Amino acid sequence: MSQADIPEAAAAGQEGGQPQRRIGVYICHCGGNISDYVDVAAVRDALKDEPGVVVSESPVFACSDGTQHDMIDDIRAQHLDGLVVASCSPKLHQVTFRNVAKRADLNQYAYTQVNVREQDSWAHPHDLAGATEKAIGLVRAGVAKTRLSDPLEPLVIQTVPRTLVVGGGIAGLRAAIGLADVGIQAVLVEREPKLGGWVAGFGATFPNDASGAEEVAGLLEEIRQRRDITTYTNAELTGKSGTFGDYMVELTLHRDGSDKALSVNVGSIVVATGFDSYAPDDGELGYGIQGVVTLPQFKEMVDATPSGQLTHAGRRVRSIAYIYCVGSRQGAGGNEYCSKYCCTATIHASLQVGGIDSSIRQFHLYRDIRAYGTNELLYNASRDAGSTFLKFADDALPAVATLPTGGLGVTLVDVLTDSRELTIPVDLVVLVTGMVPRENRGLVGVLKLPVGSDGFFNEIHPKLRPVETVVDGVMIAGCCQSPRTVGESVAAGLAAVAQSAALLKKGFAELEPLVARVNPEKCIGGGECLTTCPYDAITSIEWDARTIASVDPATCKGCGGCVPVCGRDAIDLLGYTDQQMRAAIEEMISTSEPVKEPVS
Ligand code: SF4
Ligand code: SF4
Repeated sequence: MSQADIPEAAAAGQEGGQPQRRIGVYICHCGGNISDYVDVAAVRDALKDEPGVVVSESPVFACSDGTQHDMIDDIRAQHLDGLVVASCSPKLHQVTFRNVAKRADLNQYAYTQVNVREQDSWAHPHDLAGATEKAIGLVRAGVAKTRLSDPLEPLVIQTVPRTLVVGGGIAGLRAAIGLADVGIQAVLVEREPKLGGWVAGFGATFPNDASGAEEVAGLLEEIRQRRDITTYTNAELTGKSGTFGDYMVELTLHRDGSDKALSVNVGSIVVATGFDSYAPDDGELGYGIQGVVTLPQFKEMVDATPSGQLTHAGRRVRSIAYIYCVGSRQGAGGNEYCSKYCCTATIHASLQVGGIDSSIRQFHLYRDIRAYGTNELLYNASRDAGSTFLKFADDALPAVATLPTGGLGVTLVDVLTDSRELTIPVDLVVLVTGMVPRENRGLVGVLKLPVGSDGFFNEIHPKLRPVETVVDGVMIAGCCQSPRTVGESVAAGLAAVAQSAALLKKGFAELEPLVARVNPEKCIGGGECLTTCPYDAITSIEWDARTIASVDPATCKGCGGCVPVCGRDAIDLLGYTDQQMRAAIEEMISTSEPVKEPVS
């Protein structure tokens, strides 16, 4: 649909409304969840005589297969053109009952779900009369809205079988290969001069001792052989326009001191920009003193020493203290999360150290060890190999200082040995630094990605939609979302591939048509709505020799934010028009008892 013809469709839609409707109403018992607190039979009977209602029933379970079939039979036999189910939250069963409508050849948007469970029976378990009256009002409101519903069809968008992967770490590399495997072209952009991210710099890694550098080299070789993958290093995503399934992205390639712009047409975007390692403040747990290093610095030392003697600053290391949870689990005001990978990464590195020189004494100073799952075996192996584990309390962090005799001393109160204060002389202190979110302000601005209070990107649902974001067609994967291990990052990258394939492989996508529409006759082009829309879905267009607003239906999220700002009432939300909402509210008001004056 071009922008120019959107207003005409809008005008046609807004003149709809069918006074003579045939609506079926079903008030669910929910096996007692509703009927124990609401007189369901009274609601059913109250609705029987409502204008336009030709069926009013009260099934025990509206969502059961049997009742769904009964509804389909009623829709066909009674020629229903509207359906209202009063039951649980739309989050649970809106799709179920929309499908009932579809199976009976009724427009799915002529269906209205009324929530009389979470918003009524569960909210008023001690007031049967009041809850029943409220249910009657809610269902009448649903009928009033349905009476004015227009048939709507999902918006169909042609999708481009190409995905932009932002970030060339292990999650991004694996995602690019996965995309090529399923026949989707991948364009991979990396801000740094080299691909591979953190893992490319690692030697042996847990859980299988495989070399991170070799694993990344294998992935890069595979990418080199794939014609469907294009990579750009020293490159950034700097712009995005278009709609889900058909985005035009602007890349800026930093080349020999100048910038080159490149536009690429993609259907989806996978963001896998990784993490930064926590940088301790000067003086934090001795950071800044000679011999105090972070976990990544230590890992580099260990990986560079395959056998022989471990040395630091030219001196042999005979003893090491690891201080866990540096920059993680800091409590209110700090990084409250656990970085998840660092316990096991440290334990694994300590086993590497034992392999280099088994005489090195190793002390692990921890608050809690979180070597979960099979990583527990590494923890056991480290103890068996002679590592000593000492536990300190959350509010009594160890202190690191230079000893008068030279070397370092780490002092802690060990809660496992009757809270004795110990000072351990060591040659090296490793601060087990966790993950922090990477600074990505430019990318966040371009993609409008939601950022959590911890600074990591937010998914829609942590369990059920773990890689999707609220921005359609934009997925997140790996440590840009939260701390995780290499295996978990790769799994998330592949989940983003599956999600991209689900969106792009059909060649088209269907979007909800419950979007804003501008009435061109009423719009005077004032433009208040343009600045209100958080998704940039509204633009100014020329129509009939006038400037008016126009909504791109594929970009609009149907949030309704633009509707009240228009002083001319020129914008309406399809499926929730002003007319429908007014009718629903009037039904609610006319059902309610007048408010009683308080007795003084
Ligand atoms: Fe602390 Fe271990 Fe969690 Fe890292 S993984 S933050 S060291 S508990
Ligand atoms: Fe933008 Fe929301 Fe209006 Fe759609 S309904 S145009 S997303 S403000």
